[in-house]
Amino acid sequence: MTPRCFILGRPQFEPTYQQFLNELVPPQEAAWREDSTATSAERLVEFAGRVCYLSFGSRQSGKTTREYIRNLIRNGHESVLEHAVWTLGLCGVSRAFSHQLVRHRTGFSYSQLSQQYHDESDGRFVKPQRLEQVPAAAKIWEQATASAQKAYREMLVALDTAQGGEPSAHRRELLRELRSAARSVLPNASETALVITANARALRHFLRVRGATIGDTEMRCVSAALYDLIQPEGPALFEGFSRKTLPDGLPVVEHRNLV
Ligand SMILES: Cc1cc2nc3c(=O)[nH]c(=O)nc-3n(C[C@H](O)[C@H](O)[C@H](O)COP(=O)(O)OP(=O)(O)OC[C@H]3O[C@@H](n4cnc5c(N)ncnc54)[C@H](O)[C@@H]3O)c2cc1C
Repeated sequence: MTPRCFILGRPQFEPTYQQFLNELVPPQEAAWREDSTATSAERLVEFAGRVCYLSFGSRQSGKTTREYIRNLIRNGHESVLEHAVWTLGLCGVSRAFSHQLVRHRTGFSYSQLSQQYHDESDGRFVKPQRLEQVPAAAKIWEQATASAQKAYREMLVALDTAQGGEPSAHRRELLRELRSAARSVLPNASETALVITANARALRHFLRVRGATIGDTEMRCVSAALYDLIQPEGPALFEGFSRKTLPDGLPVVEHRNLV
């Protein structure tokens, strides 16, 4: 199973910026010469940066949007990048992966499929890429995950029977309790799904520290899927990153400091 990533929400820069600008500067200075190739996310960030210095009209230099944003990043004025926010849907990833992902606290918001409210009896498992090359190890993995799932199902039935199997007024909460107990045998490989909202600064940080973690192939694959999806949304915002394929056939997202 490969990670799958979808954009559910993206920055939308509104023409009302002009009204706002008219409030801030005299009419002869309330003009912003925009780069027609810039994306909505890039325009939003550039505009926010320019408001800091009111560098519109005669105060605007000849920089392109890419140059302007590169300068923000190089100078460490990266909080401006936090205005560009995306909401993403992510599935085909393991709970082992999501546990690492949610360690990223700053500029990220998460909603994750619940193993308490969702019955995992038919849940899928994410097989580590490495096992594809070693059939003997893959077979052990398949037996182990099938065995864990069987135990999960049998435990749910046993627990439900033990409490009487009677429809209860609090059935929903009871099932939650039973699934909580039964899920304790589910492996790290259990597939999960998340909705993630993250800003450009936080995404850059994530890609920088996670994209090239050589020994963590699932993290590399998700980072690459994320980069492929988000980079066209704001090439200037994700400058400094590049996508490669390593000899193991799997992707890596590398970072270099902007000069
Ligand atoms: C290769 C690798 C190996 C790892 N191994 C382990 C491991 O063995 N065990 C383990 O527990 N974790 C491990 N981690 C997770 C790591 O410690 C971080 O929890 C995770 O990468 C999130 O990074 P972050 O805190 O920079 O991100 P975020 O939480 O998104 O924070 C972003 C940035 O905001 C700032 N910040 C956020 N919170 C604070 C704060 N409270 N105080 C001050 N500054 C703050 C920091 O500058 C931080 O870099 C590993 C990570 C990597 C990349």
